[in-house]
Amino acid sequence: MSLASKTALVTGSTSGIGLAIARALAAQGANVVINGFGDAAAIETERAKIETEFGVKCAYDGADMTDGAAIAAMVAKAEQAFGSVDVLVNNAGIQHVAPIEEFPVEKWNQILAINLSAAFHAIRAAAPGMKARKWGRIISTASAHSLVASPFKSAYVAAKHGIAGLTKTAALELATFGVTVNCISPGYVWTPLVENQIPDTMKARGLTREQVINDVLLESQPTKQFVTSDQVASLAVYLCSDAASQITGANLSIDGGWTAE
Ligand code: NAD
Repeated sequence: MSLASKTALVTGSTSGIGLAIARALAAQGANVVINGFGDAAAIETERAKIETEFGVKCAYDGADMTDGAAIAAMVAKAEQAFGSVDVLVNNAGIQHVAPIEEFPVEKWNQILAINLSAAFHAIRAAAPGMKARKWGRIISTASAHSLVASPFKSAYVAAKHGIAGLTKTAALELATFGVTVNCISPGYVWTPLVENQIPDTMKARGLTREQVINDVLLESQPTKQFVTSDQVASLAVYLCSDAASQITGANLSIDGGWTAE
């Protein structure tokens, strides 16, 4: 498969799963737009590495995923610079762990904005071009938490269930235009997002770091192994292939058996 002459925009791709997806799509020949926060010099290093390693063009856009207008502008800028946005990956996400009665209202609003509304704004902006060109791939990084819940993650679980619903709706609307819309639902992937929630989970549940890793995180995964970012990226690449053109509206688990229980 080749994605040469296609452009992929991956939100939240300065780190973790998003960076792995951006690199995997670039490896297939796609020009990529990366997005996310972080140290400017480190982001520039990753951007330049994608260009030299894969011989594609790579741009960085620092749009804040809580800002709908900035998201629309990012899509328009990418279309202007590269001619199209053919693959949209809604991946940016944050987590906050706290009992619901203590859950900070601003964290609820921020998680809903970044983990759910940002995908709506990006799909809304990218769909017209995809429809006109009669080809497109929209992929959102959902989570096992789009299918099942865990305590202390009310905003995250609500937002990820929302992504599953948004995926189905957009898939139906775009089905006759050669545009597929799917979400990928990983179990625990070892990234900064998982590492950073360990201290709060220790506090919320009164556990040690090792207990959180083994008894909370890997407890959910029958394989007792973390999923890797590269495994998630391979699934995203597959969804961009012609072989996957009849997969739409799906929520694909990659969770070591978590949601089979
Ligand atoms: P990560 O923390 O490594 O990466 C998150 C990315 O989102 C970073 O690039 C960050 O800069 C960006 N981001 C955060 N807030 C932003 C904002 N306001 N505007 C723009 N970018 C912003 O996390 P990750 O584990 O790679 O998570 C990526 C996605 O995968 C998230 O949607 C997450 O919910 C989902 N996910 C992760 C796991 C896991 O175990 N790590 C499991 C299931 C789903």
